[in-house]
Amino acid sequence: MGPAPELIAVIVVLLGPPGAGKGTQAAAAAAARTGWTHLSTGDLLREEVAAGSEVGRRAACYMERGDLVPDEIMVEMVSRRCQNLDPGGLLLLDGFPRTLPQAEALAGPATGRAVRLAVYFTAPDEVLVRRLLGRGRADDDEATVRHRLAVYHETTEPLVGFYQRQDLLRRIDADRDIPVIQTEFLEILDSVVADHRS
Ligand code: AMP
Repeated sequence: MGPAPELIAVIVVLLGPPGAGKGTQAAAAAAARTGWTHLSTGDLLREEVAAGSEVGRRAACYMERGDLVPDEIMVEMVSRRCQNLDPGGLLLLDGFPRTLPQAEALAGPATGRAVRLAVYFTAPDEVLVRRLLGRGRADDDEATVRHRLAVYHETTEPLVGFYQRQDLLRRIDADRDIPVIQTEFLEILDSVVADHRS
């Protein structure tokens, strides 16, 4: 017999294109509830780059081009983080998985824990481009932004079907005001936690 359900961390995957506001929404949700953690793989990678670590040096050239960092680096990084999860908590995974092999690794022994929900933030590409260009990050010039969106559509979007087939997918229209989205997002998360405990 495994541990009691309340002792297993709930993993929630956030899906959606760059610029959909996943990071903003996840940070606000984690601040609103005790025991909820926001893990952004983009933020983790930027920290590694800033620190000049080996992972950072390997990842930097992919990130600058708007390409995906290789799966082996990402899976290793996320599984390390998942080993010391708060067992009663909820983990909001922002920016991972982005490929099918990453999603399969997350479902398997890399974490030892199942994904309970995937929340899919949607918005039209033109809205995303406008938002991303206004953000002013190093990888946010127009050509790189368009490339990141193309990579998203080709490689990451198929994960929508992956989670839908497992009946884990919920959609959120991300082309609305931040507080409206946050209310809907929290409702979805609160209900998955309540289901998990019952
Ligand atoms: P983000 O902040 O989520 O937009 O991520 C910034 C960049 O980090 C991406 O454009 C990728 O180069 C890289 N990255 C973040 N998460 C992943 C991932 N799960 N797989 C591959 N590359 C990633």
